[in-house]
Amino acid sequence: MKRKFSSPAILVAVFLYVLLQFTWWEILLVRQNDALTTERERLTALNAPDAASLDRSLALLRHRKNMQTLMIVGEGTIFLLLLLYGVSRIRRAQAAEERFGKNQKNFFLSVTHELKTPIAAVQLQLQTLAKQKLDEPARLSLVGRALEENERLNALIDKVLLASSLESGELMLKKEKTDLSEMVTAICSRYFGQAVDAGQLVVNAPSGVEAYVDQQLFPSVIINLIENALKYSGRPSQVVVRVEAAGRARMLSVADNGDGIDDAERDRIFERFYRSGNESVRRSKGTGLGLYIVKYIVVKHGGLVSVAANKPHGSVFQVRLDA
Ligand code: ADP
Repeated sequence: MKRKFSSPAILVAVFLYVLLQFTWWEILLVRQNDALTTERERLTALNAPDAASLDRSLALLRHRKNMQTLMIVGEGTIFLLLLLYGVSRIRRAQAAEERFGKNQKNFFLSVTHELKTPIAAVQLQLQTLAKQKLDEPARLSLVGRALEENERLNALIDKVLLASSLESGELMLKKEKTDLSEMVTAICSRYFGQAVDAGQLVVNAPSGVEAYVDQQLFPSVIINLIENALKYSGRPSQVVVRVEAAGRARMLSVADNGDGIDDAERDRIFERFYRSGNESVRRSKGTGLGLYIVKYIVVKHGGLVSVAANKPHGSVFQVRLDA
């Protein structure tokens, strides 16, 4: 609605106008200073008692003139630098706002799509069940698929609710001493059993690596990282989840051999609603909330999450917590 007032072109035009006007005033002030000094020199020459005192007075006048010119130019430069800094901050804030708006629009589109798809699928499965006389295996297969769609729907809603509760800032952590390896192993077999059985997901978590984590929230970190690694790996994929202790630090890493993430996007993928613009990501389902949730929870635990390139290709996400 207010776009035409916040457009970058207007900002640049205002900045250029101020710059030109300011430069013009500076030139004018320096010229006036020169003219004033010339007039003072003329008067001093008329009133000087002797040549030696005239030289001293003229030197003093020139020194003063130089100092004043320096002051005008110096203050002008500082003002312009501050102006430039202010404009660049405003421009950056505008760009972030535009990006956020675009991400939010994409989010609504993909959530709408992700809500409608399972609902339509379940509806079709129920209609088929109601209308047709099916044998037992076909009936069980339809019911199984309907349950899967329902579970997906549930997981999506949970993710959106979790992100919005994080956003409200009311979340309190309840950290408890936890065997991280046990937690990771249990999550892998509960949520990613098929990938583990197919050898796509390898868990390397020697027992006894303990950390203080919130047992309700921290699983979201593990699930989101593994889900992404499997989703963005392509086929054949191999995802390796590792838990280890390094001194007082506890490390959880999830490595995949997918397409990886461009350097320019490494920070942005943790933003709320951000999804990479590349085609393979666009084709996969997602909301842009997973890594936002991961980062929020890890930071709330006093930890760090980072992403690096895997070799020969892919990504490694690493979470570091202090024991
Ligand atoms: P979503 O997966 O729902 O899009 P996320 O917040 O989990 O949202 O991820 C944000 C973006 O980060 C993804 O859209 C994708 O572009 C990128 N990304 C996340 N994990 C990986 C990964 N393991 N490999 C490549 N890209 C990834």
